[in-house]
Amino acid sequence: MARKNWYKNFSKGINRHYLKYVTDSRAKFLTERISLSVQINNAYIQYVENLERYLKAHSLKVDQQLKIFLKSEQKKLAEALAANFQTALEHIIELGIAPSKQVFLDAVKAVTGEILGEANVIEFLTKKGTLRAETIKDFYVKVNKEALDFYKSKTEINLSKALWEAAKDTNTVVIGIIKNSAKAGMDSFKTSKLLKDYIVHGGTAQGPLIRKLKEGGIKKYYVPKDVKFEALRLVRTETSLAFAEGVYQGGQATPFYKGINWVLSASHDMVDECDDLAAQGFFPDGEEPIPPHPQCLCAQVPVYESPEEASSNLKDWLKNPASQPDIEDWFNKQFLPNIGG
Ligand SMILES: [Zn+2]
Repeated sequence: MARKNWYKNFSKGINRHYLKYVTDSRAKFLTERISLSVQINNAYIQYVENLERYLKAHSLKVDQQLKIFLKSEQKKLAEALAANFQTALEHIIELGIAPSKQVFLDAVKAVTGEILGEANVIEFLTKKGTLRAETIKDFYVKVNKEALDFYKSKTEINLSKALWEAAKDTNTVVIGIIKNSAKAGMDSFKTSKLLKDYIVHGGTAQGPLIRKLKEGGIKKYYVPKDVKFEALRLVRTETSLAFAEGVYQGGQATPFYKGINWVLSASHDMVDECDDLAAQGFFPDGEEPIPPHPQCLCAQVPVYESPEEASSNLKDWLKNPASQPDIEDWFNKQFLPNIGG
């Protein structure tokens, strides 16, 4: 799908007043996703630089001392990966929630600006007093925390375990390479240089390493293309899940939210479950599907009442709560329990 058509498709369900909120939120999410990949790469660079220093100070052999060293580096790598994920996912969930918060603040601003003359209605005063911008921001901070807890309860154990495994697998590959390099008659300096190129660049960078091993008589030795692959795959999968979670939880906490439009990713080329979701298009509040496969980059575009509708409904509710049972229900069950405390 061409970029231009994709954006047309992405933005077609969004009221033009909200377009910037939704577009910004997705653009920032994609930036955050890329910067997490960069941080993950950096964590591996740190790992291999420590390894390089160790190897240059020791003769090339797999002994107890190397194993102890690698074990501690594995722990450092896994912890660095987990910390990077934690920070990025928190931020990404917040980005998913942001448009809903903005839509709600807009409606409140429109109404409080307009309705001030009717301040004699006691009930209105009470609610208006509660619905101040600062209180609403506090409310969304709570929403953000809840969304994060919810996301974590579903994935955290698996994620930290998966990152631990990724670091462990890296060590296994490194031990294999060191063992075989020693057998092939290479020294610490040569090996650490090849190892570094291989780990940092991945992809085709295992070529020179394999060639050197072959020259030394190690013919059949398998080296994975990129030891970072699993961690980077987790970046693509988990960031998408977290962002969708933020969009859904932010929407569900907002009275003017209707649901989401499922828009296929611009780089979607194989037919899969996502095509069915895109064919249905709209999913109402509470029935939003989670991204159905790893690395899914489909967009979940939140749909809201127009600013006119939202502020008019809010105004009606402030005058007479029974006239807007959905907002009244939201106010009592979601908003009030989550503020001031
Ligand atoms: Zn998809």
